[in-house]
Amino acid sequence: MEKVVIIGSGPAGWTAALYTARAQLAPLVLTGKQPGGLLTTTSIVENFPGFPEGVDGYELMTRMQKQAERFGAKTSFGVVEAVDFSKQPFALTVDGEKVEAETVIIATGASHKHLGVPGEDLLETKGVTYCATCDGALPVFRNQPLVVVGGGDSACEEALYLTRFGAVVYLVHRRDALRASKIMQDRVHAHTKIKPIWDSAVTEILDVKQDKVTGVKLKNLKTGAESFLECAGVFIAIGHEPNTELFKGRIETDANGFIVPKEGMMTNVPGVFVAGDCADHLYRQAITAAGAGCAAAIDAERFLSARNE
Ligand code: NAP
Repeated sequence: MEKVVIIGSGPAGWTAALYTARAQLAPLVLTGKQPGGLLTTTSIVENFPGFPEGVDGYELMTRMQKQAERFGAKTSFGVVEAVDFSKQPFALTVDGEKVEAETVIIATGASHKHLGVPGEDLLETKGVTYCATCDGALPVFRNQPLVVVGGGDSACEEALYLTRFGAVVYLVHRRDALRASKIMQDRVHAHTKIKPIWDSAVTEILDVKQDKVTGVKLKNLKTGAESFLECAGVFIAIGHEPNTELFKGRIETDANGFIVPKEGMMTNVPGVFVAGDCADHLYRQAITAAGAGCAAAIDAERFLSARNE
């Protein structure tokens, strides 16, 4: 039986692994389908402290993994198919095999919602991105027209951030009013570089043949009129979905599926902890996820010590 099983291998998962490994709990990390998590899809991470020149997202995650393994973390490239948290030890089904655990740290992250339009997947990291903070400063976007899709706080935040780099930032929203908080709306409306395009949907991202973003096809949802808008980047900010489907009905979540920690990082099930984007709809940064992973590890270690006393 494992003392600690960590589900997920983003910054939260690997930091939890590092701390529980150094506490000599030999954690088992189940990486999931995307080892390293969302950060591995980012080209250069410039906001993780300690890397003044920036660091490749994939490299950062590989370094975190090596650091955790150096202290005894075990890695399995398994995908968790089912969990039973109803009794101790907890039981997980991983690629058809049963794994038992005294404690579990859920660090399954979140996935960006996708538009699902032609060109989106093929041009990801080639001008299509889901994170302005991660990618906005890249040279390819400097002094270029940029498109942000969405009307919530994230889209407004992305648009405002991108005004530092882009020549103009088009905010394409499917309705004629923003969903974002009033203060964010006011900032967006007041900014001369942000041009809202109302009642419109992006129907295609071009140009797959050139292997880079050159523009978007738009459709006005009220009039049906179609148009082309030239741009060098498309920042999609239409919300996130926490990867918590597996825990539905077993672990308490909010209305949007984000896990709600109850005491420190412990969930409503004693012995099950949570860290990172699957519990965070506000900050969603690698460094905040790593911090939460550290906290969850310390809580798990204390839980085990208290039980064994
Ligand atoms: P959100 O509030 O759910 O907004 C998502 C936006 O994307 C909405 O405007 C929605 O349009 C649009 N959208 C959704 N699916 C779409 C699709 N398929 N095609 C086109 N547009 C689509 O998500 P969020 O902005 O990520 O915010 C999530 C939470 O984090 C919120 O509670 C927010 O307040 C919070 N947050 C706060 C801040 C801040 O305070 N600075 C920053 C970021 C996030 P409709 O409006 O038509 O539904």
